[in-house]
Amino acid sequence: MNTTDTKTIPIQPVPNVPAIEADDEVGLYEIRKKIYPRSVTGKFANWRVGLVIVTQVIFYGLPWLYWNDRQAVLFDLAARKFYIFGLVFWPQDVIYLTVLLILSALSLFLFTAVAGRLWCGFACPQTVYTEIFLWIERKIEGERAARMRLDAMPHSLEKLVKKTLKHAAWIALAVWTGYTFVGYFTSIRDLGFRAIQWDLGGWETFWIVFYALATYGNAGWMREQVCKYMCPYARFQSVMFDRDTLVIAYDRERGDPRGSRSRKVDAKAAGLGDCIDCSICVQVCPTGIDIRKGLQYECIGCAACIDGCDKVMDKMGYPRGLIRYASENALAQHATGSAMLRRIFRPRTLLYTALLLSIATAAGVSLYLRNPLKMDVIRDRGALAREAAPGIIENVYRIQIMNTDEKPRTFRVSAEGLPGLAVADLAQPIDVGAAATRLLPLRLQVPADAAAPGPHRIEILIEAVDDNTISRREKSTFILPNP
Ligand code: SF4
Ligand code: SF4
Repeated sequence: MNTTDTKTIPIQPVPNVPAIEADDEVGLYEIRKKIYPRSVTGKFANWRVGLVIVTQVIFYGLPWLYWNDRQAVLFDLAARKFYIFGLVFWPQDVIYLTVLLILSALSLFLFTAVAGRLWCGFACPQTVYTEIFLWIERKIEGERAARMRLDAMPHSLEKLVKKTLKHAAWIALAVWTGYTFVGYFTSIRDLGFRAIQWDLGGWETFWIVFYALATYGNAGWMREQVCKYMCPYARFQSVMFDRDTLVIAYDRERGDPRGSRSRKVDAKAAGLGDCIDCSICVQVCPTGIDIRKGLQYECIGCAACIDGCDKVMDKMGYPRGLIRYASENALAQHATGSAMLRRIFRPRTLLYTALLLSIATAAGVSLYLRNPLKMDVIRDRGALAREAAPGIIENVYRIQIMNTDEKPRTFRVSAEGLPGLAVADLAQPIDVGAAATRLLPLRLQVPADAAAPGPHRIEILIEAVDDNTISRREKSTFILPNP
């Protein structure tokens, strides 16, 4: 390389930017500016409130439902059984948990590809509890302006009373939430009786307090900080977006240039767009951002700014939808609503839907056809093979019979695979209670000359006495020793 060609670029000092001295401290933590979201009404606010009610009726109500004389939904970790209405899941059913996780992930991909952060804006627990805590705050401290005044005022009796009431209500709700959460893992009624008698176990107390603190801290204090700085989904959701994903968007072409004006002013003649720069969209935003600056990762897609701006448009007599659900392509091509909605059915979303439906159908069929009988066979390693009587060889096993049905059943055990193979000294039929398990020793015997010495593949068969459709076969080995 010819070094004579290299040009030297002079480095100029940048005006108005103070140089950083060695002793200057650079803050790595941005001090939080408290956000006072203004309340908003409208179509999307109704959806949000509706979803808060539905999700919370389910969350708080489900553990109180009974089914077949037991709690309808109970994740009994101690007994290693999950009860969900008529279904009982055992550790062997872990595949269904895997399927549930896959379905949840695929649903998230699908909803995000179609309409961005629908989950965050309408159903995420962080949004839902923040909404409830904000509702309590508004009831006690008042609307946005009143809350700002209250926080700014010096200490007074009014401030003390309002703050105490608010925190007491928050803590009561948080403790009830923690109690409900633990009620999914241990009988909620029993938990209540023991709580009244001050007789809770260590782990129960820990999880109630932990969940209550998490609810109180996240929904009462941290709020949008959780979405902005803690939630990983906010960071990677953009990879699931494409140019046809519906996002909350400000129509810059229609709104700019912005400027305040009276209703009587002809905006076009005045050279103005439809945005009157009232900042309502910023005031209602729970994360405090200005959507007019474009899509930002802080936007949780709650659509409060759409409701807020639509109200302003109504008052001004302008068409609604200055801020609306729109895709990047639709905005660029001025596409109509129906043309934009048709783009929901694109290869990516169709693929997610097809995968989702096929896996959900397969899981549903598998659940419907699920065999309520499970069996584990374990060879007794202490006694591989022994002579039980002259000319009779015996192998010993342990069998675990699991009846996942809600009613008691009676079973019969047999074995196949070697001539003369028989079950010895086992009291049959075997009773197994509803959703119960039995561990039994099993002795199998064959004549010593039934086959050549060595291991032989056999099958242990178990059948329900009262229902010949319920049976199970497990493979094992039978060892014939050298004479
Ligand atoms: S609410 Fe609508 S009109 Fe008001 S500043 Fe926001 S975009 Fe402009
Ligand atoms: S910008 Fe709009 S949609 Fe996004 S978080 Fe704020 S109010 Fe919700």
